[in-house]
Amino acid sequence: MSSSVALRLPSIDGLLRHPACAPLAERYGRDSLLTGLRQLLDELRPGVLSGQLAAVEIGPEVLAGRVGERLAQQQRSQVRRVFNLTGTVLHTNLGRALLPEEAIEAVQLAARYPLNLEFDLSSGKRGDRDDLIEGLIRELTGAEAVTVVNNNAAAVLLTLNSLGARKEGIISRGELIEIGGAFRIPDIMARAGVRLHEVGTTNRTHARDYQAAIGPRSGLIMRVHASNYSIEGFTARVPTAELAELAHAYGLPLLEDLGSGSLLDLTRWGLPAEPTVRQALLDGADIVTFSGDKLLGGPQAGLIVGRKEMIAKIKKNPLKRALRVDKLTLAALEAVLSLYRDPDRLAERLPSLRLLTRPQAEIFAQAARLQPLLADVLGEVWQVSAVEALGMIGSGSQPVARLPSAALCCRPQVSKRWRGRYLLNLEAALRGLPIPVLGRIGDDALWLDLRQLDDEPAWLAQLAQLQVDR
Ligand SMILES: *Cc1c(COP(=O)(O)O)cnc(C)c1O
Repeated sequence: MSSSVALRLPSIDGLLRHPACAPLAERYGRDSLLTGLRQLLDELRPGVLSGQLAAVEIGPEVLAGRVGERLAQQQRSQVRRVFNLTGTVLHTNLGRALLPEEAIEAVQLAARYPLNLEFDLSSGKRGDRDDLIEGLIRELTGAEAVTVVNNNAAAVLLTLNSLGARKEGIISRGELIEIGGAFRIPDIMARAGVRLHEVGTTNRTHARDYQAAIGPRSGLIMRVHASNYSIEGFTARVPTAELAELAHAYGLPLLEDLGSGSLLDLTRWGLPAEPTVRQALLDGADIVTFSGDKLLGGPQAGLIVGRKEMIAKIKKNPLKRALRVDKLTLAALEAVLSLYRDPDRLAERLPSLRLLTRPQAEIFAQAARLQPLLADVLGEVWQVSAVEALGMIGSGSQPVARLPSAALCCRPQVSKRWRGRYLLNLEAALRGLPIPVLGRIGDDALWLDLRQLDDEPAWLAQLAQLQVDR
């Protein structure tokens, strides 16, 4: 050590008694403050011993300030709201569908009070949690019965295991899909204890292929909506009605995993056609499975609907207990399903549908309005323009369809060699805002698709804080 008087860190006790620390103890509690101070002093000790730190860097006010910052950071929730300006509306990594107010209120009620989750108020006897939405599901889909589980992956697993364990599941090679996050139909079948019997080819499968596969070991026929890819060109697929007829002729159930599974015909809102749950059941599918938080616009859930006796069998499977949904989900789901009783107002009331159907002209007008403000904050290195853009539904729905939208397109006006770095820096700066803004980089630009910019005031309010590294 060069100096003759050795620098010493303040004592913990001294710091705890120091006026600069009092408000921190008040705010975060004495234990958290103590832990924070200990950690900080441990980190600073080597610097003090080696003489690298100056006295001003270890004064009580400075230390209190640093501990205060840390405690504030620690206290900040890990679950953060973000702006999804990626152009993908039902973004799996960003939580998919946003709930309508009615569902949020229902969740609050279910969180705050005891409720009749499994209690029949008319008879005073024990009830079944699926009963809370069974009436609505029957009305909206024509199904005889329903059971709800954690997500659609769980719905598929549970259905397969309940109806096809130790038997063969017949499925077209063109439907052996992977949905992302390690959900692959062959793997789920194996885990469900169903032996995969694939038929046909990737692009063409005929009724005779299914028929040839049917034998004494057959347990079920499965159909999977190829939600996240499309097969085009020389293709053949057996219509559900024909497949159902074949299955039933041999006494086999037909399962249809619809994935998104819309309850209404989306073309009425100008969206790409998606098979409805009602139609699949009308066509003769015995059990249909679909997600709660894709096109339905509700909470994460997997709905299993169809024939009463099969649903009863599914509900008796011990796995059902492991996969069941909680009261918050059921409360939200009931509220969302209720909105479907009034299709005329659905696009106003259901956020996912409202966002999916926002007219391009409206989004473009918003982009034009915000363009000068963002350009101003970013400065002249960036060329910011309001442009037409193409978004997507997301979550595997209609992978090929594009939603005409509009975006703020930010292009760095620097030589090609620097562009990548500039774009990553802008992306990081946007992510670092109090409400992180998530866009998408492509074609040497950063795109902020404004389809989902609902809360413009909050977005604008933090714009001045944007600081992009060069
Ligand atoms: C999305 C999807 C699933 C999985 O649904 P989750 O609700 O995400 O578990 C299963 N099958 C198909 C066809 C899908 O599109």
